[in-house]
Amino acid sequence: MPNKQFIENYPLYKKFEVEILSTMDKIDKPSVNFHCSECGSRQTYVMTNEYHYASGIVNTNSLAYNLRCTYLCIGCQRSQREFFIYVSPDRDWIMKIGQYPAWEIQGDKGIERMLGAHRGYLSRGLICESQGYGIGAFSYYRRITEEIIDQLLEDVRDLIPEDEREAFNEVLAKVKSTRQTSEKINLIKDMLPSSLLIDGMNPLGILHAALSKGLHAESDEECLVHAETVRESVVFLTSQISENKKSKAAFSDKMRKLLEKKK
Ligand SMILES: [Zn+2]
Repeated sequence: MPNKQFIENYPLYKKFEVEILSTMDKIDKPSVNFHCSECGSRQTYVMTNEYHYASGIVNTNSLAYNLRCTYLCIGCQRSQREFFIYVSPDRDWIMKIGQYPAWEIQGDKGIERMLGAHRGYLSRGLICESQGYGIGAFSYYRRITEEIIDQLLEDVRDLIPEDEREAFNEVLAKVKSTRQTSEKINLIKDMLPSSLLIDGMNPLGILHAALSKGLHAESDEECLVHAETVRESVVFLTSQISENKKSKAAFSDKMRKLLEKKK
């Protein structure tokens, strides 16, 4: 079934493995969220047409076909979005083959601010992803990681509990004298504070695994998966560190005020 995540976030030409029912009126029509330029805000869009064979059989030797989805903003009832979806002959995967307006090539504003001078690489990586150019996307995201890793780990230090900080500093010194990014991450990944884990998973460990796989003769399609992993881990870490710092600062501030009052 095409789902919300597929319609909202999948780039063109990227396979989405999912079983598609042969009865078209049973296929899901998920409502989705996009920025609406008419409303000037993020809005819910609903599918207004019925599924039908948009252009019949694509290849006369196969049973592949295209679906067309027309979406309408429920805020203004004017802004529309169109998606064309290719369904594989065995109905076991789908991919977007067209979309209007084009996939929005913009990252999260907060993340972009945090990435500072390197945010251009993020946009380029997203453009590559939107076209299915996994090798290109992976290269851009690896470059971002290389350039921000020292600062990122430096920021992690502020979140390390006092009694573990000395040990962390020792490893951090080693990290700084190491040149290779994946080696840097390997040295320090097990010292990540628990507040930066995702459901017990270590984003630095995931990042390390994705970067070590690298581009070793892998196809665009395989690189796309690693690229997505690298992007998500870096974005998660960057935003999580900033959130943690903010709440820590707010907490200390509150505590200080409380203690001053007591005095
Ligand atoms: Zn609207």
